[in-house]
Amino acid sequence: MNVAATRSRSIHRAYLAAGLAATALYFALPWDSFAQTLVYDAIGASAAAVSILGSRIHRPSLRLPWYLFGAGLLAFSVGDVFFNLYSFVWHRDPPVPSIADVFYLAGYPLLTAGLCLLVRRLRSEERRRGRFDAAMLIAAFALCQWIFLMQDRLHSGSLGERVVALSYPAMDVILLAALVFFALTPTSRTVAYRYLAVSIVFLLVADEVYGLSPARYAHTTWLDSFWLLSYVCWGVAALHPSMRELSEPARAHAPRVSTLRLAMLAVALTTAPAVLLIQSATGASVDAVPIAVGAGLLGGLVLLRLTSIIHALEELRGTERLARAEAETAQRLLAEQNERLREADRLKDEFVALISHDLRTPLTSITGYVELALEDDLTDDVRGFLQVVARNADRLLALVNDLLFVARLQAGEMSLEPADVDLAGVVRDGVNAMEPRAAAKGITLTCVLDAVPSVHADRNRMLQVVDNLVSNALKFTPEGGAVHVSLRQHDDCVRLEVTDSGIGIAPNDQRRLFQRFFRAENAVERQVPGTGLGLYISRVIAEAHDGSVSVRSELGRGSTFRLELPMARAAVAA
Ligand code: ADP
Repeated sequence: MNVAATRSRSIHRAYLAAGLAATALYFALPWDSFAQTLVYDAIGASAAAVSILGSRIHRPSLRLPWYLFGAGLLAFSVGDVFFNLYSFVWHRDPPVPSIADVFYLAGYPLLTAGLCLLVRRLRSEERRRGRFDAAMLIAAFALCQWIFLMQDRLHSGSLGERVVALSYPAMDVILLAALVFFALTPTSRTVAYRYLAVSIVFLLVADEVYGLSPARYAHTTWLDSFWLLSYVCWGVAALHPSMRELSEPARAHAPRVSTLRLAMLAVALTTAPAVLLIQSATGASVDAVPIAVGAGLLGGLVLLRLTSIIHALEELRGTERLARAEAETAQRLLAEQNERLREADRLKDEFVALISHDLRTPLTSITGYVELALEDDLTDDVRGFLQVVARNADRLLALVNDLLFVARLQAGEMSLEPADVDLAGVVRDGVNAMEPRAAAKGITLTCVLDAVPSVHADRNRMLQVVDNLVSNALKFTPEGGAVHVSLRQHDDCVRLEVTDSGIGIAPNDQRRLFQRFFRAENAVERQVPGTGLGLYISRVIAEAHDGSVSVRSELGRGSTFRLELPMARAAVAA
């Protein structure tokens, strides 16, 4: 934050301190002295000046209201100067109406116009709500003004005196109305608004007290502090950075029945009875007609306000109902779509199973007849051709078997034939079968098998897992590498590990290795043949035996696949 910004943020504090000090000085000076009037006029004029200054510093999107406030406060201040001229220059009390009254009364419409411009910036729904609330409060306040202040003045004094006497309370009513508009909108949370509100309240209180007996306040009294503080607070509001927000259309609030709103309704409803009570308690004659009219008006307004609240709530409920219906429709569509996807998946599995099954029969027959043919006396060429056919037919058969197995798994049809199995025997068979392949690639295939307790498992499935792991190790290890197979007991488990010095697997790929059809990037790049089903099948078989398969691998250095199976219960007990 730069220095200028910081300074513009704290300037309102400096003005508040100076304003309070000047107010204290006013009362410290000899009362009714010329110096005192100078301080008074200076405070008024400064409020007018900072109103304009504030809008230049903070640059709100709408500056006109602050210029109008400046003009209004200046009019008050000029009124003060004239008021004092009567005492110190013309040495007489001001007449009614005086030139000071003209300026004072010109100030109110300017301030009100400024507030109205700010109110116009509110969203239309905020304005609609505010209108009812303001109307209620105006009606209540106007009833009190009429009964206690204005009514008596209507019949006493000259026309000019009567106009002036009626104008002040009327202006106060209008000023209060604009304030109430704001009080019920989110803007009211800004600091600038609060200073503005305090300022207007000071002004209203001073005006009301003054209005009760104007003659008593022609000279310095403590009541002056209210007008002075009103000036100071208005100036602080204009200098506070949040004054900018008063010009911004605030986010609309959902209608709610806040305590403030309820309090307003209560005030509106109790004003007429309260006025009646005050009149009867003070022994004044009861003004039945204005009170009845006021009570009727207030009752009507409260009714309108309640109706609008109910309407707004109903609208809200309607919107909510609509949103809920839309959400339910979306949920139903999603469920239907899921069902369709599941059905498509099932059909696909069925199709794969069907095709695999139909392929297996002729493939088995091909491998059988090729084996038979190889037993005959053949030329070397023909034998070589037939061996290629046999190898490829075997690979095809293995692939078809894997596909069929997975299709059965998907359909929840894996059948196990468990028995107590000596895993060391199974691993030895698996490794022996792989030896020709290792030799063909020049890979050193070693094997250390401890005498481990038996496991309760399906022997063929175990052979399938060992086959997968060892054939993968050979497949992904370059020529001249090494593959080591070990079998050990570890706690209550039997642990088989197949370690190779092959291409390894990247950490990102390791996470997805045991998913259906997944192949690591380096396997695809090197065009190593495969389907991505072997490890998935191994995991499902291991889990069906309450065991697990896992991998540790380093790219370019090799991998270790580990199968862990729980020992058979009898073996654990022994
Ligand atoms: P396939 O071997 O048919 O591709 P698998 O399911 O057996 O399918 O293996 C999935 C993938 O895991 C392989 O494609 C390969 O990327 C990776 N992988 C498996 N074993 C090894 C290994 N020993 N070394 C490096 N990568 C391996």
